[in-house]
Amino acid sequence: MPDNRKARRLTSKLLEWYEKNARDLPWRNTLHPYGIWISEIMLQQTQVATVIPYWKRWMQTLPTIQKLSRAKPERVLKLWEGLGYYSRARNIQLAAKQIVTEYQGVFPENPAVIRKLPGIGPYTTGAISSIAFGLPEPIVDGNVTRILTRIFGIDKNPKDKDTQIKLWSLAKTLVCSTEDCSSLNQSLMELGATVCHVRQPECHNCPVMRSCTTKRKNMIHLIPAKGKPTRYEEKEIEVYVLFRGRNLLLQKRPDGLINAGFWELPNNETGPKLKIANKKEPIIKIRHSITKYRILLKAYSTNYNKKIEGKWCNGTDIRKLPISASHRKLITALSKQHKDFTQIFTPSTLKVR
Ligand code: SF4
Repeated sequence: MPDNRKARRLTSKLLEWYEKNARDLPWRNTLHPYGIWISEIMLQQTQVATVIPYWKRWMQTLPTIQKLSRAKPERVLKLWEGLGYYSRARNIQLAAKQIVTEYQGVFPENPAVIRKLPGIGPYTTGAISSIAFGLPEPIVDGNVTRILTRIFGIDKNPKDKDTQIKLWSLAKTLVCSTEDCSSLNQSLMELGATVCHVRQPECHNCPVMRSCTTKRKNMIHLIPAKGKPTRYEEKEIEVYVLFRGRNLLLQKRPDGLINAGFWELPNNETGPKLKIANKKEPIIKIRHSITKYRILLKAYSTNYNKKIEGKWCNGTDIRKLPISASHRKLITALSKQHKDFTQIFTPSTLKVR
């Protein structure tokens, strides 16, 4: 644990560096907790460059917590389409409803209250509390973990409980050693994103290089320590392509599944296996990864069966509906390659705008 003097020295270097090097990101031009909250949730597991247009579109379409609380869930999912981890979007709307009913639509300022909102964990609580309200609340995410483990030479698995406690405590010491809690936390995020990369960190550009134990000991390839590798599960799904005239049949994914509420072609993951005419080869195969699953989608032409329910969609519908990433990939590939599709849909008519 750094003493107060060391903590202040580190924070002043970080703050000085951040003032000169902070990227101009749209959510950094607001102090409104709503915009900061949305950006922090979008940025989880997603690159800044990807998030920028999503954040702008979201804030234009749903500029207030009240509007978000009243929006149709399908509209919220559509705004999130492509970002993945859709429970995040659902939780944002649940939290907005709670803020409207319990806090008169005003984002709460108390970290303990923020932490209880749906979808908000300790990291997001720290980010909102420090950036929007200037409170000395710590943040620890992947970037901050990398910086702290490296600076302080922590070679234990960062996911272990004891290491987590240590990291949060270090982050708290740092954020409490300055008045500018917002910039300090953002400097940690920024340094992790732009300098202290997982591989080949740019130590020569790092403001805290002289204090970095890992650099001094030449242990960058070992810290942070890697946990157990993720075990992936293989999944194979049959997808059924049904046309009625120029319309394609889509179905909504039921509640309780990953991507619930999104639209897809009928398939044997969410519905019954269908009879496939001339079942020889699928008309197209697509590979897709989601969380721990490696999925192979095999699409077959199928004859229309009255028992199959769903929505018959033209190109405009497909563009406007929230469609799961794997099925949008599949439909787009079909629109380029398969004659039934190329005559009706082109990739540009399906493109989300
Ligand atoms: S000196 Fe290098 S390894 Fe250490 S914190 Fe800076 S960028 Fe990361």
